[in-house]
Amino acid sequence: MSLTDIARRIRDAARAAGRDEGSVTLIAVSKVQPLDRVVSVLEEGHRVFGENYVQEAAGKWPDLRERFEGVKLHMIGPLQTNKAKVAVELFDAIHTLDRPSLAEKLARLADARGACPELFVQVNTGEEPQKAGVLPADADGFVAACRGLGLPLAGLMCIPPEGVDTTPHFALLRAMAERNGLSGLSMGMSADFEAAIAEGATHVRVGSAIFGARDYGAR
Ligand SMILES: *Cc1c(COP(=O)(O)O)cnc(C)c1O
Repeated sequence: MSLTDIARRIRDAARAAGRDEGSVTLIAVSKVQPLDRVVSVLEEGHRVFGENYVQEAAGKWPDLRERFEGVKLHMIGPLQTNKAKVAVELFDAIHTLDRPSLAEKLARLADARGACPELFVQVNTGEEPQKAGVLPADADGFVAACRGLGLPLAGLMCIPPEGVDTTPHFALLRAMAERNGLSGLSMGMSADFEAAIAEGATHVRVGSAIFGARDYGAR
């Protein structure tokens, strides 16, 4: 699939859902991808990218930002508290705010810098023990706590379990966002971004459908 194809499918899905074609941001997930593939997507004009690892992102994006103007970087992987400082300097958005200690750290950093990336609270909609994210039952309380710290919340994010129909997870996230007055919904990946858009996704995170399969061994 090319970037153009994905962009068209996103516009079609938005239109089919009765939504504005421009209401969905495509985050091209470039983690672990060879640099030449990332550069060719930049050369096609795309500017919004997602990364999972602070160190990997810090190693490649400062240079790419010098070569290409207007890059927006989204952190979509688990964020260790001791990497938060580097992360707030590097990323325009963080999708994986999932615990009080990280919220407190981000609030301190935001105070010191006078700026904060856009933040999404990650919700573990499938209640999977191995997966990050606040449990659905704790989401409202955590959102309130983050607001109490003065953090600028953009919305909610989820990574549904593999091998299940993801639509109920997207619907659950949307309902949680609505009742908390949050407009951002970061949901949907290569396999299900159209379903996520039908449920209101504002940010879809698409990796392999744009760049091809990831080769973790080659890193
Ligand atoms: C890797 C990753 C993606 C992209 O996955 P694809 O299936 O390649 O589209 C999206 N979201 C998160 C959180 C990821 O870690």
